Amino acid sequence: MTKKELIFLGPPACGKGTQTNRLAEFLKFPHVDTGSLLRAEIKNETEAGKEAKAYIDKGQLVPVELVTRIIKNRLSQDDCKNGYILDGFPRSVEQAEQLEKMNAEIDNGIDTKFIAVYFDIDTSILVERIVNRRSCPVCGEIYNLEFKPPKVAGHCDNDGAELTQRKDDTREVAQSRFDTYNKETAPLVDYYTKKGVLKSIDANGTIDEVWNRLLEVIK
Ligand code: AMP
Repeated sequence: MTKKELIFLGPPACGKGTQTNRLAEFLKFPHVDTGSLLRAEIKNETEAGKEAKAYIDKGQLVPVELVTRIIKNRLSQDDCKNGYILDGFPRSVEQAEQLEKMNAEIDNGIDTKFIAVYFDIDTSILVERIVNRRSCPVCGEIYNLEFKPPKVAGHCDNDGAELTQRKDDTREVAQSRFDTYNKETAPLVDYYTKKGVLKSIDANGTIDEVWNRLLEVIK
C-alpha cells in the first residue's frame, strides 16, 4: 500500500483547518496541525510552549528547530504509517527541506505519494474571517460567527463545550501573520510547483464547494 503524505498551503484562515479536519475523518488519517500542537505545548506550560508563545503572540514563525522536533515526533508515530494530513507545516522553504529529510528517515524506502494542496483564495475577506473565528477546545471544530455559527450561541454543536477565540485572532496579529505568510510561506507554491507535486484548488465559496474540489485533487 502506498503511504499518502498530504500537506496544505494557504494564507491564514483560508479554510485549511476546516477542510483538513473533515478530510482526516474521511481518510482515517491523523490530522497533524502544527498550530494546535504548539498551542497544546503552551497550555501544558512545557519548555517548548514557553519558547513558542512569544512568537505566536506576535504572529511570527516559531524557530525551525523547535517546530521540526515536534513534527518529527508526531509523524514518527505508528498511526501515521499509512498516511498523514499535515496542516501548517512546512511554512518556509527551510521547513520544506526539513520535511523531506524527516520523511526520508521515517519512510525508509517504502512507497509514498506526496501531494501539496494549495488553497487559492481572495485574501481581502480573510481578516474578517479571522476576527469572527471561534473554535472548540475539546474536539477542534471551527466556527465562524457569521458564516458557520454554532446552533447554540457560544457552544460546540458536537460536545457542548464553551467555544474559545484564539489569542492571535485579533486584527493586529492577523496583519502580522499575513506579512509572515507572504514573506516565508508563499514561496512554497513555486517550490512545490517546480517539484511537480502542487495541486491548486479554488478555495473561494462554501465549505461544501471547496470540499468537493479538494476530493478531486487528492485522489
Ligand atoms: P496556525 O494555527 O496554523 O494559524 O498557527 C498559529 C501560529 O503558530 C503561527 O502564527 C505561528 O506563530 C505558529 N506556527 C504554526 N505552524 C508553524 C510552523 N510550521 N513554523 C513556525 N511557526 C508555526
